[in-house]
Amino acid sequence: MPEGIGRKEPLSAVQRLFAQKLQSGSPPHAVIVEGPRGCGKRQFALWCAQALLCTSGGDKPCGVCDGCRRVLGGYHPDLHFFGEEATVNVADVRELIRQTGLVPIEGEKSVYLLSHAEKMLPGAQNALLKVFEEPPPGVAIFLLTESRRALLPTVRSRGLTVTLPGLTDAQLYERLRATRPRASEAELASAVRVAQGSLGEAVAFLEKDAQETRERARDWLDACLSGDVYRLIGCIAMARERRDGLLPVFDAFLRLLSDLLLSRVGGTPVLLCAEEAYALSRRVTKNALVRMCGQALVCRERLESYGNTTAALSCFASELCASAGRTVSRDVL
Ligand SMILES: [Zn+2]
Repeated sequence: MPEGIGRKEPLSAVQRLFAQKLQSGSPPHAVIVEGPRGCGKRQFALWCAQALLCTSGGDKPCGVCDGCRRVLGGYHPDLHFFGEEATVNVADVRELIRQTGLVPIEGEKSVYLLSHAEKMLPGAQNALLKVFEEPPPGVAIFLLTESRRALLPTVRSRGLTVTLPGLTDAQLYERLRATRPRASEAELASAVRVAQGSLGEAVAFLEKDAQETRERARDWLDACLSGDVYRLIGCIAMARERRDGLLPVFDAFLRLLSDLLLSRVGGTPVLLCAEEAYALSRRVTKNALVRMCGQALVCRERLESYGNTTAALSCFASELCASAGRTVSRDVL
């Protein structure tokens, strides 16, 4: 079994099929590797690159030859990486096309990995079409993306798509438990619920910044459930000073409101544990929660369109507290 993705975990059915194609002597040369963040797309593409650039005489990839090791280390001269930057523009793709026309440095094959393919601008995708459909002999191109639907249909139709599944909740929990020994059980459980199989999402959820964002959003919720408009305005003012702005806090706040609504209608909350969501949701009526969600969405849209305006935020805070407070006294809980 090769190193890379094979030794520790068995290949999935789709991966086995792909491996057979690679080893049959006619490997696909244009491949779209799709799957949620952190599911192992890069690992999988590197394993394919090992298979193509392996120098052993036996089953490929052997995982131990010089070629396999250098691929895994990311420094094989015939393995090229693109798409590491924020966007992939036409100039990047033209450089990729230029390089595919060069003779490989060591053997007869060269492999190109383009990460975050969904970030390719339409012009860049169009520029890629011809070489992706028919790469020069010996060239294999792998496009890595969270969703192939973000690619132009013309690009999608020219490559073989390999969809990697996300992790199960149990696998995700084990991975997080092993790498985040200081995280509490409640944090890990929330990360697993939110990530829905994506290790990358789960790791991002546990980052310090994301935790602070949720704490700010929780402050907002507590303030508006108490009907304390001045406290809410103060909380919003604190959130405005954050490096990444207000919008992430709004998103976390909307998730909290959504959890309270879910709890109200008998669903399973995502961010909060069931007990906490239940206790909080009983402080307001369902109608109040629906109004608060609407108000938060409208204010978020305004902020996205016009920036952080004090008037919009103050108005939002008073509307929100009015919704929570008014309904507590008027509606039947
Ligand atoms: Zn090898």
